[in-house]
Amino acid sequence: MASKVWTMDRRSLSPDTGFVPQTGTLFDAAGFDKLVKPGDRVAVKIHCGEWNNTAYLRPVYARMIVDKIKELGGIPFVTDTCTMTYSIRSPRSTAPDLMLTAERNGFNSGTLGVPFIAADGYAGTDDVVIPLPEGYILQEAFIAKAIALADVMIVVTHFKGHPMGVIGGSIKNLGIGCQSKRGKFNVHLGRHPEYGFANQVTYHPEKVPESFLDLIPGACPHGAYSRNNGTAEWNPARCDGCLGCLGTMVNSGAWEMSTENFRAFNAACADGALAVNKALEGRIGYLNLALDVSPHCDCVGHADLPVTPHLGIFSSHDAVAIDMACLDKATQTPGMPGSGAEDWGVDGIGDHKFELPSPLIPEAGVTEEIQLHTGVENGLGSLEYDLIDVPGSGDPDEYGFSFDRRLSGEKFASLYAKENPFPQGRLGGKGFDRKDKVDLEKVAGPLPVRES
Ligand code: SF4
Repeated sequence: MASKVWTMDRRSLSPDTGFVPQTGTLFDAAGFDKLVKPGDRVAVKIHCGEWNNTAYLRPVYARMIVDKIKELGGIPFVTDTCTMTYSIRSPRSTAPDLMLTAERNGFNSGTLGVPFIAADGYAGTDDVVIPLPEGYILQEAFIAKAIALADVMIVVTHFKGHPMGVIGGSIKNLGIGCQSKRGKFNVHLGRHPEYGFANQVTYHPEKVPESFLDLIPGACPHGAYSRNNGTAEWNPARCDGCLGCLGTMVNSGAWEMSTENFRAFNAACADGALAVNKALEGRIGYLNLALDVSPHCDCVGHADLPVTPHLGIFSSHDAVAIDMACLDKATQTPGMPGSGAEDWGVDGIGDHKFELPSPLIPEAGVTEEIQLHTGVENGLGSLEYDLIDVPGSGDPDEYGFSFDRRLSGEKFASLYAKENPFPQGRLGGKGFDRKDKVDLEKVAGPLPVRES
């Protein structure tokens, strides 16, 4: 059966269709108000963005949802989880690191109106184990405890590309983003007898970069690397698959990866998402904001030119259907000139915009659809959807500034009587010293065209 997905015009031509009001309007259109009862603990799951990433969703979108939940009598908190990797460039690996990064990126009680918390505790090991006999590959999952203990969750997802997932949407925000650090090892297939790195990596020690050799004593938290006759030895039996060295090893060619770890990870992501649904008994509302559609995830420390223009904002009760709707929109939309989509020749209508520009190993042939197909196989959701266009409310005040709603005269007349910003008493009432008339034609003409 087709699931409903609600969306609005991807452009905004009036205050009621600004992207923050759209987020509130699409919350209402999907009936998320029916999910929240007075007194419910409501998790608002966001991605707080990596250190120096700039494509992540601004905190004001989460604030819109927080205000909605408060109006309904719910008790919201905004949350994200620790990352799996321990590498030197991991600014979200423990709760203190995560919270420092979140604060630097603007997520705090001042901007959100409620606390931002790490859902999986200090070391990322606070979780609830969910048995998953329905899983396509996972048979259990480890859900971040603050999320598992919530009554309801609203997932505010930035839809974009991802180096391992190819796409990062609602499925991935649950399948990785709501797993504890321990749960992320599970989804990344650490020590899996078939898909773990031990079986998926062909190691080329001669390609290990010189700069890495000096770091070997502290490079791996599990002591998988040692130095022998000037080269780096790697002991796969000691590798938990934390990804700490992945970028260095793959980019240098020292790790030659097969596709299977990446493909299995994407399937496991959909299982992880299903486990979150089980933990919350399906009381989850999804919002995908396909804005600033960067080729890589908010988990990388920079943001490239988007591969497509804004695709719009979407809401649904179905994680598969909402990601499918966003992916279809990306495929149907021309790629952004000058972006990775153009670099890879996938900038036309009908081209898959993420499969080549986004993955860590584009040649691995990992497709955009693995998470989606697995989500159908395990019962998470449906690829079929009815897309419902929602108009703006037409009311510019619905989500407008409302601190003081008096008319301008009522609000400012007494203040201006004390302190008038316009100096009426100067220069015979003209206020400021300016020429009475100038040649505007002289400065209005076109600029000369310059060679680039
Ligand atoms: S060898 Fe394995 S456990 Fe060690 S840093 Fe690399 S990915 Fe992590």
